[in-house]
Amino acid sequence: MQEHSSSASAPRNLLALGEQELAHLVKESGWPAYRTGQILRWLYQRRIRTIDQMTDLSQADRAKLANDATLKRATDWTVFRSSDQTRKLVLTLEDGLSVEAVLIPEEDRLTLCVSTQVGCTLDCTFCLTGTMGLKRNLKPYEIVEQVLTAQDQLAPDERITNMVFMGMGEPLANLEALSEAIRRLTNKTWGLGWSPRRITVSTAGLASRLKEIAPLGVNLAISLNATTEAQRAQLMPAMNGIASLKNLIAACRRYPLPPNRRLTFEYVLLAGVNDREEDGRRLVKLIRGITCKVNLIPFNPFPGSSFRRPADRNVLAFQSILREAGTDVFIRKSRGRDVLGACGQLGDLSPAHRNGSLTQIESRC
Ligand code: SAH
Repeated sequence: MQEHSSSASAPRNLLALGEQELAHLVKESGWPAYRTGQILRWLYQRRIRTIDQMTDLSQADRAKLANDATLKRATDWTVFRSSDQTRKLVLTLEDGLSVEAVLIPEEDRLTLCVSTQVGCTLDCTFCLTGTMGLKRNLKPYEIVEQVLTAQDQLAPDERITNMVFMGMGEPLANLEALSEAIRRLTNKTWGLGWSPRRITVSTAGLASRLKEIAPLGVNLAISLNATTEAQRAQLMPAMNGIASLKNLIAACRRYPLPPNRRLTFEYVLLAGVNDREEDGRRLVKLIRGITCKVNLIPFNPFPGSSFRRPADRNVLAFQSILREAGTDVFIRKSRGRDVLGACGQLGDLSPAHRNGSLTQIESRC
């Protein structure tokens, strides 16, 4: 005789289902097909937290759905507010691990920086997340949850204008989940309805996967950070083992850019390491002919790191080298440094460096 295990029929979290899987559940329940969109709109457009809030389903249908599925939104998060009004959200996941997203207000923008992994596949030596190692990939719903929770935090007059996948992790190392999350974020019928033009995916440079970003219609940023193979191997050892600088630049040249779009190259400026005049000149040569702009990111220090942030005049001098060669080049303002919410500062500090300097302003459990 066969025994049935109870886990085989464990109720599924509606947020963990893709559109097809939900359509299957709807069909199995004997409901009309339009119910799939109806349920998805409740999840993503109205951000409900319980099945009972789906008020255009009858009581009986809600009870049936609650019998077959659950609705599990994150219930445990902490917000750290920086003196410059940047907000870092730390979300606790079902398995107790945590992931960070950052809301960055600027004059006419509100950017949300989203994570794709807990920790990171890579080990870039100037990045705090890189020192954590990879704990695990995020699931599509855990990526989307960061956006839903951030939206729940907004004041009535606030609206997120831009989204960047520049938080913890290497997005292209979790490409399937990233793609599914972007589909839910950009779906206009039942999803969050985001224009892909307002979304940017940043990669350390997995050259062979760059082309897979193109069909998503989002912008692509490549973290270059170095201008020679040796320098890149020193700063981004794991990345360099996956793709050489030469192959990466070749993949950028082949990238199928849609009309009126350009690539972004990011370049972390590390004092005395990659911020010299010769570095600037090599950078100009490396990217010559690519339709692009360059974002310079002066190093954001974190406890335990031996790199230094260049003086402002050196950052400006580096910018001038690129500008004089005709490159469009911007300096990224550091935001949220006092709550370790700036580029490269997301992740767990080792116990030796935890000093309680973060001010917790709001907590929900
Ligand atoms: N893995 C992806 C996305 C996360 S990092 C990537 O590498 O692009 C986002 C950006 O922050 C990258 O350009 C990275 O080079 C930069 N960065 C990492 N650590 C930094 C630090 N300590 N200071 C300034 N920028 C940093």
